[in-house]
Amino acid sequence: MATGSETPTATELALQFAARRGRGNGETDFFEAMALFLTETLGVTYAFVAELDNAGAPVVNTLGLAENQSILSNISYPLEGSPCANVMTKGVCQHSRDIQTKYPDDPMLVDMNVQAYVGVVLPSANHEPVGHIAIIHTEEMTDTETAKQVLSILSTCAAWEIEHLKYETKLKESDTLYKRAMQHAAVWEWNIQEDDFFVSTRLREILGYEETEFSKILNSPNYDLVHPDDKAGYYERLKTVLAFPETIYESEHRLLEKSGEYRWFEARGRVACNEAGEPTQLSGLVLDISDRKEMEQSLGDATERAIRAERRLSGAVNSLEDAFAIFDADDRLVMFNETYRKERSKIADLIKPGTSFEEIIRASVKHGRFPDAIGCEDDWIQERIDEHRKSSKSVEHRLDDGRWMRVSERKTPDGDTVGVRVDVSLFKQAQEIAESANKAKSEFLSSMSHELRTPLNAILGFGQLLRNDGKNPLSDAQQRAVKHILNSGGHLLTLIDEVLDLAKIEAGQERMSIENTEMSDVIESCLSLVQSTADKHGIKIIDSLDPEHSMVMADYTRMKQVIVNLLTNGIKYNKEHGSVTLASYRTDDKIRITISDTGLGIEEDRYEELFHPFARLGAETSEIEGTGIGLTICKRLIELMDGSIGVESKVGEGSTFWIELPAGAPRVAESISEIATETEEPKAAAEATKGHFSVLYVEDNPTNIRLMEQIIDLVTDAELRSTHTAENALEIVNSIDPDLILMDINLPGMNGIQALNRLRASPDTSSIPVIAISADAIPESIQRGLEAGFHAYLTKPIRVDEILDIIESIRSAD
Ligand code: ADP
Repeated sequence: MATGSETPTATELALQFAARRGRGNGETDFFEAMALFLTETLGVTYAFVAELDNAGAPVVNTLGLAENQSILSNISYPLEGSPCANVMTKGVCQHSRDIQTKYPDDPMLVDMNVQAYVGVVLPSANHEPVGHIAIIHTEEMTDTETAKQVLSILSTCAAWEIEHLKYETKLKESDTLYKRAMQHAAVWEWNIQEDDFFVSTRLREILGYEETEFSKILNSPNYDLVHPDDKAGYYERLKTVLAFPETIYESEHRLLEKSGEYRWFEARGRVACNEAGEPTQLSGLVLDISDRKEMEQSLGDATERAIRAERRLSGAVNSLEDAFAIFDADDRLVMFNETYRKERSKIADLIKPGTSFEEIIRASVKHGRFPDAIGCEDDWIQERIDEHRKSSKSVEHRLDDGRWMRVSERKTPDGDTVGVRVDVSLFKQAQEIAESANKAKSEFLSSMSHELRTPLNAILGFGQLLRNDGKNPLSDAQQRAVKHILNSGGHLLTLIDEVLDLAKIEAGQERMSIENTEMSDVIESCLSLVQSTADKHGIKIIDSLDPEHSMVMADYTRMKQVIVNLLTNGIKYNKEHGSVTLASYRTDDKIRITISDTGLGIEEDRYEELFHPFARLGAETSEIEGTGIGLTICKRLIELMDGSIGVESKVGEGSTFWIELPAGAPRVAESISEIATETEEPKAAAEATKGHFSVLYVEDNPTNIRLMEQIIDLVTDAELRSTHTAENALEIVNSIDPDLILMDINLPGMNGIQALNRLRASPDTSSIPVIAISADAIPESIQRGLEAGFHAYLTKPIRVDEILDIIESIRSAD
């Protein structure tokens, strides 16, 4: 020790104790060691370190309690009325005798037969009392001053220990601050009168100095150890504590390392005074806090970044013209912008964090914000709540001022719901205009078609009558004229049909049923349509389609239309006794179908033109009939099926038109055998039910019909009848009287929904269950189908077990 005395004083022993942190007492707990140290060093009956518990009425809990040389179990007692209460408010309480008379309300003093008491507060880093350290003696004490000094020295140490214990619990998983603090702590003492500094070796080690150079720098007149920027504050704090010796000295400053770098330290201490009340010594602990400073710094940076990010976010959110709100996982409002609040000015008092979505929507409905809710408030509100919970799609609502709002909400990974409410009134208006324009266009086209067909009907009808009137035969010239009339009329009819078809496709009104389609079926059906024309022109049609490469994804009926067009062109623009050859190939995941002729060919620079409406490339001056629209329609249709179309040609040798389409699933024969083995159970179940069961299948695609035939084959005593069109189905339904109708939706002519309506309207057929089987798997279409009254809506590709289950359920319901 700096004093160098032979027998250490109690104060010196206290400093040593602090420096050792009570170690050297074997396994004894720090606070117990401290209590024992006090009874021994100061020769008093009792000593204790206690923590203050302010959770309710203030209670004192001892952490270490000693009676003479033994440890007692810890106790708790109320602060009120005890001398300890005085310690907490004044910092120190010191009585050399007769304490019981001063604190008559403290029974413990009587129990323990106490005469003298000295207590010193344990201050926390933020100057709140965290507890106290005290000695109690059953006799009068002569030297309470030394006791006070010793307690003061140990108080800093104990307070630190308590705080570190708290840190320890808080930071258990991490490397605890407590351990670090103790590793990085040193005791220091400043002999004020002699201006001599003593610091225990740990600080020297931390800073990396040799013994002699350290004592030199430590006592250098300019405090060279302290960072130049910290010197002023450091002096200031020293001056303050000397002026007010009862206060605690506290300082954070940087000290110079041997390496030239600086480290942060925190020093705490208390002043000891002589009898005259003059400060003689300032002593305490110094702690390496560089890690904490670094943490604080990065925490500070992070906090600042977080604050900046939040500010930026809320700035952005507030600058949105659209209303924006976030609800938490419990559907309570967390954040919203100005627009959201303004929009709800009538319920302004509810627009604050914590209000539930339901409260807001209920209040809005009550104020009439949503005209659509009037008369069905509860249902409407429930629907909104469900939508809000799902937050999966955008919904639009009409407001009382006529505006339309689109609400788009999404769930975040944290379970919050983030929503934007956009005014879509203008968009709605535009949509309504577009819809009515489109409707007007469709109406115009259909009335045009009607207006043109009616006189054309008369022209063609009377023309034929004239031609065929055996009683009043026409002259040759008249015959030629009538032939012209009939040819031109026929041409006009084709033109009207094609123009209308093209208009329908261009208007996006064409619904496709894209599914597995066997090209060999398509071609077989087309050949029967064009064969007579081919024969008339002496053209041979060669079908070289590869059955292995025949399945495509396409709309059966529209595909037929394309192939008929290409075959007809191949025939029309061919030479006499030429040929048209059909073939198919596989290229990656596509199937290429080619239709090659031996005709005149087309110049390469005109390939593009072919697919433009009304382009006939000179054919208009020839005898060959045509409108120039066919290939345009083909191209549009093929593109709607996700395919492509093109031509390669050599003038004088012939042309090859090709179509490429996505390849379909494997051939039906294979897939049904696979499915059949997979579904033995439903088969057995179906077999168990007896009785004749007849099914009518309305489907244009023969591939699907074949598949369905095989499925129905699995059901005992069931029979399948099929037809290609809804019109035909309505004609035959009464004679078949089916137990079940399976209905494709996209059919040539009348569609499945229209057919269903007709079936429902007639008492004979209204009770037959009708199941939709469609390639259109869009949720809205399914919804529309179910709303139209289908018993069920199945999507293609057809699943065998689904069909069997339905048949089973209908049979068992009968
Ligand atoms: P259309 O045959 O009614 O004139 P298309 O759109 O089917 O109309 O064909 C457009 C034009 O392309 C035809 O007028 C013809 O000049 C040319 N064309 C079509 N197919 C062939 C072909 N296989 N060989 C030569 N020219 C063809």
